[in-house]
Amino acid sequence: MDITSVTSYRAARTRADLTLAPGEVVLAGGTWLMSEPQPETTGFVDLTTLGWPDLEITDAGLRIGATCTIARLLAWAEREAPAEWTSLGLARPAADALLASFKIWNTATVGGNVCRAFAAGAMIAFLSTLDATALVWTPDGGERRIAVAELIVDNAVTSLAPGEVLRALDIPAAALTSRVALQKIALAELGRSGAVVTARVDPDGSSVFVVTAAVRRPRVLRFVRIPGAGELRDAVASATDFYTDPLGSADWRRGVSVVLAERLRAGFARESHEGAA
Ligand SMILES: Cc1cc2nc3c(=O)[nH]c(=O)nc-3n(C[C@H](O)[C@H](O)[C@H](O)COP(=O)(O)OP(=O)(O)OC[C@H]3O[C@@H](n4cnc5c(N)ncnc54)[C@H](O)[C@@H]3O)c2cc1C
Repeated sequence: MDITSVTSYRAARTRADLTLAPGEVVLAGGTWLMSEPQPETTGFVDLTTLGWPDLEITDAGLRIGATCTIARLLAWAEREAPAEWTSLGLARPAADALLASFKIWNTATVGGNVCRAFAAGAMIAFLSTLDATALVWTPDGGERRIAVAELIVDNAVTSLAPGEVLRALDIPAAALTSRVALQKIALAELGRSGAVVTARVDPDGSSVFVVTAAVRRPRVLRFVRIPGAGELRDAVASATDFYTDPLGSADWRRGVSVVLAERLRAGFARESHEGAA
């Protein structure tokens, strides 16, 4: 699409270049920014020219640069990541839950998906499930950290203040060696997900279940073990922000989220039982 309101483009090379003039916004992959009119936007400031590393193994775990493409993350997770980082297996099914085709993945960045903050944000599901933290650069030259699940405050709304830029996403080492799984449903076979439930079970038996797409912001549910069926059903169903849109009604989203969560729970419980036998 021609974005006719935009009259300037700057390639950012240093952090100082991220000081935005009125009407400027930061550009990452551009897949959303170029997909619909942006009447308030008169200039793009390109983040991809900052040279941020895509993926870094740190003492604390894995750092994903905000400008790393979804395609690069998937390829690295499947071919280059340490074999014991089993949780990265969630990246592919999460990306598959994105309505967008592989053509979008090749350009869309992990940070752009998070900052767009759609309820059905594929990378939001993946990162929230692995307890990822967002490293945010603030306009005064400082930085702050916030859990990805907390950064999203509503459908298509983040807590980023004007001028703040998402620099990286940090996944703690402790969350990288877990068992993970995803269940999703969409009304149309290739349609945007109506509900996505992801889950992680850590080596110590504690578990995390995350509902996205069905609720306006990620709902993260933590348990000291794999929960019982009733406990999980009540925790999922009690969310107050299931919503209605052309992709599903709030009641349907609530109902299917409960079913998807139970499928994950039952699968993990069965595996644990078999492992113990
Ligand atoms: C056909 C199609 C299907 C889609 N399907 C889905 C879907 O199923 N689920 C879903 O969640 N999304 C979907 N999207 C939207 C999707 O979120 C984006 O296309 C993509 O993930 C955005 O990544 P990007 O790097 O291209 O971001 P851009 O388009 O470059 O930017 C997106 C927004 O984030 C801001 N931004 C980007 N990076 C940063 C940063 N580091 N710091 C601060 N702000 C930043 C930009 O200013 C802009 O407001 C779809 C888009 C298309 C075109």
